Amino acid sequence: MLKVVIAGVSGRMGHALLDGVFSDNGLQLHAALDRAESAMIGRDAGEQFGKVSGVKITADIHAALVGADVLVDFTRPEASMQYLQACQQANVKLVIGTTGFSEAEKASIEAASKNIGIVFAPNMSVGVTLLINLVEQAARVLNEGYDIEVVEMHHRHKVDAPSGTALRLGEAAAKGIDKALKDCAVYAREGVTGEREAGTIGFATLRGGDVVGDHTVVLAGVGERVELTHKASSRATFAQGALRAAKFLADKPKGLFDMRDVLGFEK
Ligand code: NAD
Repeated sequence: MLKVVIAGVSGRMGHALLDGVFSDNGLQLHAALDRAESAMIGRDAGEQFGKVSGVKITADIHAALVGADVLVDFTRPEASMQYLQACQQANVKLVIGTTGFSEAEKASIEAASKNIGIVFAPNMSVGVTLLINLVEQAARVLNEGYDIEVVEMHHRHKVDAPSGTALRLGEAAAKGIDKALKDCAVYAREGVTGEREAGTIGFATLRGGDVVGDHTVVLAGVGERVELTHKASSRATFAQGALRAAKFLADKPKGLFDMRDVLGFEK
């Protein structure tokens, strides 16, 4: 049985992950982590589901990792960096679902993957993984005279913008037109006047209510436009993907992988 540590258990994704682990016979909840200030520290991880799991929520990262196989992290970048360090020291594999990393933090994740197996993906759903492939393909075909816009909407509590998924879709579109995202991105159109520059990728962010995650990539040409859309209606889709990623890492002692590797999609 795969011994899983969940980080950020009191959060929205933590809740969905616990639900996923409790209902999978191949997975065992080894430890449950959250920040020291969380009101849930010391409580049983099963409490939210009306059950006793025998695992108390803790902030002690090092103790939680003793004897563990894999840590699944859906928290904040500053916490993820601590888990990254600790997992390397304890030789525990890592699934990173957290978003909003700086370029330097992403470089640290890549460096750590020389020592441990890591799946790092801003969106763990099967549908978005497919969408990434479709966007790259669409941008490759519509590579002349089409403007690309990435539109995303999430619930009002989301802290990073544009979403990690929107940025990943922008990267896929940029790859399709043989460019790097940094060479063609227009991050904030708000307040920008004048004509649109050719070959740019725009991002628009909407926030409100309880939207789990909507993403649309628009490829707009003269006389037509193509729109590719994904809408998540439940966090269970991300949790299932993350737990599948945890299992995928079982025989990967080191290396950096994304959901396309996990799902066996062509890259
Ligand atoms: P949330 O705010 O509901 O939960 C965050 C959890 O992290 C909480 O339990 C909080 O106590 C904990 N936390 C925050 N700061 C911490 C710290 N410094 N140390 C330890 N723990 C800390 O957020 P959420 O909606 O569950 O999302 C969490 C992250 O996952 C976000 O970055 C979000 O964008 C990302 N996310 C990714 C995917 C994906 O498929 N990859 C899907 C949904 C959300």
